[in-house]
Amino acid sequence: MRQSKLFSKTTKQLPEGEESKNAQLLIKGGFVNKSSAGVYSILPLGLRVLNKINQVIREEMNAIGGEELLMPSLINKKYWEQSNRWGVDVIYKTSEKRKVESEKDFDYGLGWTHEEVIASIAKHFINSYKDLPKSVYQIQTKFRAEPRAQAGLLRGREFLMKDLYSFHRDEKELNEFYQQVIGAYKKIFDRLCLKARVTEASGGAFTKEYTHEFQVLNHAGEDTVLYCEKCDWAQNKEITSLEHGDQCPKCNAPVKMDRGIEVGNVFRLGTKFASDFNLQYLDANGKKNFVVMGSYGIGPTRLMGTLVEEYHDEKGIIWPEIAAPFRAHAVVLGDSEKVQKEGEKLYKNLSGLLGESEVLFDERSASVGEKLNDADLLGCSVRIVVSEKTLAAKKLEVKKRNESAAQLMTANQLKKLFA
Ligand SMILES: [Zn+2]
Repeated sequence: MRQSKLFSKTTKQLPEGEESKNAQLLIKGGFVNKSSAGVYSILPLGLRVLNKINQVIREEMNAIGGEELLMPSLINKKYWEQSNRWGVDVIYKTSEKRKVESEKDFDYGLGWTHEEVIASIAKHFINSYKDLPKSVYQIQTKFRAEPRAQAGLLRGREFLMKDLYSFHRDEKELNEFYQQVIGAYKKIFDRLCLKARVTEASGGAFTKEYTHEFQVLNHAGEDTVLYCEKCDWAQNKEITSLEHGDQCPKCNAPVKMDRGIEVGNVFRLGTKFASDFNLQYLDANGKKNFVVMGSYGIGPTRLMGTLVEEYHDEKGIIWPEIAAPFRAHAVVLGDSEKVQKEGEKLYKNLSGLLGESEVLFDERSASVGEKLNDADLLGCSVRIVVSEKTLAAKKLEVKKRNESAAQLMTANQLKKLFA
């Protein structure tokens, strides 16, 4: 991809009141555009990052047997009424009528979760114990009323969500799958270079047991987490009376308290939605039972914001390689024909090695400072510079974004770097 052809450009202008680091850097780099508080457009550069995050999520969901589907955002109120959530939980409502005069006129809600829709779909396909267990997931836009949408992509009114739903014969089978999902989530966050702590939290309306959140300890987070550094114990402040310095209930070491970003959660739903929607199966003895369900979320757009909060410096973003918009950023410094020609050669070679879509080629006629500043802001993992200096040395200048020193390398050495 030639940088001069990019739809977006870097900018120093920020929308008023944008205080979060993640949104500031993503807007400056041209990854996202702010539409209104808590609502962002994902621009082509940002979509590259998001697609890479989603790819990791898809691979790990598929590996535990999840099948991908896509449900509607516009959900008829009959679904919400069946689970008693229309009056309580559905915030954004709309209607077929052009003019709405009272609450009664609304007949659709914009979905913020899909237990109702998936339970009613499952009725068509789950009849016998032989049809279980099953699990399906989607990556889809969700809507929530956030009174304080000030944390950039960490807390949106509209955001992307991966939601997985599972169906089981009994609690035991659900618990086994629940542990599998926790394992898959650990792999996802590991691969994305995020240290996420499995944190006990309140079960909410559907279960008396704990539910589990995945918390990345970061001061930009809106949750407060008590955790132990000596063992894996962690609880959301909402459910614990422990304070910083108290003894860990598991190993007696003093616990710590920090802010956390919730990047994922897992819920045991029991038979709540199966009974609301009369989702039953016949067991081996021919007896009818309610299906036991679980639901499991990860927010890909929030993950993008979390990566920026975790990985940046005063110059810009430092993407982990797996989420970087491009694997290599080739930069030509200097306008001489010789340097330009060498740059084109590098672009061609890198494209052959990594695929053209994984190489960003800065062939713009701009100042050295502007080009290097932009490269730091965009944050691709590896920057390769061609200049009069590198030509004279018959080498290329290679710098990793997370290292301070550049190295001179031959084309062969560079090739090995990407092997
Ligand atoms: Zn401990």
